[in-house]
Amino acid sequence: MGGVDRSTFIKLEAEKLITNPNTASIDTGLRRNCRGLTPLDARIEPWMQSVLESEELSGWVAEHGSPLNILHASPLAKNLAAFNRVAADHQLDFQVFFARKANKCLSFVDEATASGAGIDVASLAELQQVVANGVRRSHIICTAAIKEEALLAACVQHGVTIAIDNGDELEQLASLLTNDSSQASIALRLSGFEHDGNRLHSRFGIDIGQFEDFVSRNRGALDSPALSIDGIHFHLDGYSASQRVSAISQCLGLIDRLRELGHVPKFLDIGGGVPMSYLEDKSQWETFWEAHRESLLQRRDPITYRNHGLGFTAIEEKIYGSRNCYPYYQEGVQAQWLEMVLSGRCENKTIATAIRERNLQLRCEPGRSLLDGCGLTIARVVFRKQHPNGDWFIGLAMNRTQCRTSSDDFLVDPILIRSQVQNPAPAIEGYLVGAYCMESELLTLRKLRFPDGVEIGDLVAFPNTAGYLMHFLESRSHQFPLAKNLVITQIEPPQATLDRIDQS
Ligand SMILES: *Cc1c(COP(=O)(O)O)cnc(C)c1O
Repeated sequence: MGGVDRSTFIKLEAEKLITNPNTASIDTGLRRNCRGLTPLDARIEPWMQSVLESEELSGWVAEHGSPLNILHASPLAKNLAAFNRVAADHQLDFQVFFARKANKCLSFVDEATASGAGIDVASLAELQQVVANGVRRSHIICTAAIKEEALLAACVQHGVTIAIDNGDELEQLASLLTNDSSQASIALRLSGFEHDGNRLHSRFGIDIGQFEDFVSRNRGALDSPALSIDGIHFHLDGYSASQRVSAISQCLGLIDRLRELGHVPKFLDIGGGVPMSYLEDKSQWETFWEAHRESLLQRRDPITYRNHGLGFTAIEEKIYGSRNCYPYYQEGVQAQWLEMVLSGRCENKTIATAIRERNLQLRCEPGRSLLDGCGLTIARVVFRKQHPNGDWFIGLAMNRTQCRTSSDDFLVDPILIRSQVQNPAPAIEGYLVGAYCMESELLTLRKLRFPDGVEIGDLVAFPNTAGYLMHFLESRSHQFPLAKNLVITQIEPPQATLDRIDQS
């Protein structure tokens, strides 16, 4: 603390916080108009704040329709650089492949490519766009869950590595390698790793218990000079760093085994599932779940629609079930998480050393966490009405698939942008509802409070939605058009253009 006593130091730090322009204006401005009954404040990037406060925003929604996805690609480069730094500290040969199924926009392919990342593709269309974009063959991997012949053939044609999931896929690939010059690069996808005395269940990949059998049964294809096993791949469900440590150490044994058999694997690809955090504040996250529990036990008014359990149920004063939501607040995320994996132990050394000593390239395939800070979803308020029980419904020009993953709810407070500065209306509380004709069509299950009311034409912004929330489940039921994707090309003053995915 360099000569400053502790209380002075704390005071100086506190002043820094108060005078930090981002923190201060978000607190007093943007977040003020809409909050959950128990708030969950979003982490907000400076570019998001500029856009939300800009004159241009309402014009963009008027021009392109509601909802509108707004994207900014440069945080991806920053997130990538943090991963690369951690790997460099461990002197690892390291290559990130951006899992583009997390967002369909080509701006992210451009940004990832310009920053040196490869791309993980999960379908023929994703592959074709990436190839057309000029991404080098060495920088593409195909991990599609279903690989029809046209996709396998395109991978062979473009020299793209294929993550092989099963014997049928391998056989079909081998049958395509008929002319003398055709060559295929594959990685074997593995699963069923042991961790803490249990097997990690997966429907994907080759079970490690069946690895020897798989290799010997498919010797014909695997030993063919037209095909090379260039690596081993896995992708685990969930976000546990220690599960990755177990999986990596078991894969290293299989790499050794493949080398004994005369193969030349060059990389180990640990897939995605790198966690990220959407919220500012741990105590808000804990307070929310405590209040939710109290609501389910009927000890306070509901904080979710019709006391939705979000995975939990109350039966006779006890709570059962488990949270069916992404951990929107978590610690040890992104580059820090990678550090936990790489400094994990196996063979009496770190994972990083064990990989390095084998002259392997380490690869990973983050989707969500690379897109942290890269997007907003904006929708226009169309109506307000009050239910006899006092709660309000705020209707937005948007449907639920336009901000949704497999999570029960997006547990992040939306931001309300008023259409005009006017005398505040009375406070109301209620729920955001969407355009699909179902009783369950709520845009958020959480009860929200609007201290100065809501007006028709106001805009609601869902923060940090680039990873999965925009596109993974978007649908065109009722023949509504898909949301447009507008990319910020300049922050001050804001300028934007539609992503190429909307121009095709
Ligand atoms: C979905 C997926 C990823 C990306 O996962 P994130 O959780 O977004 O990091 C990577 N690899 C494979 C094989 C996947 O299916």
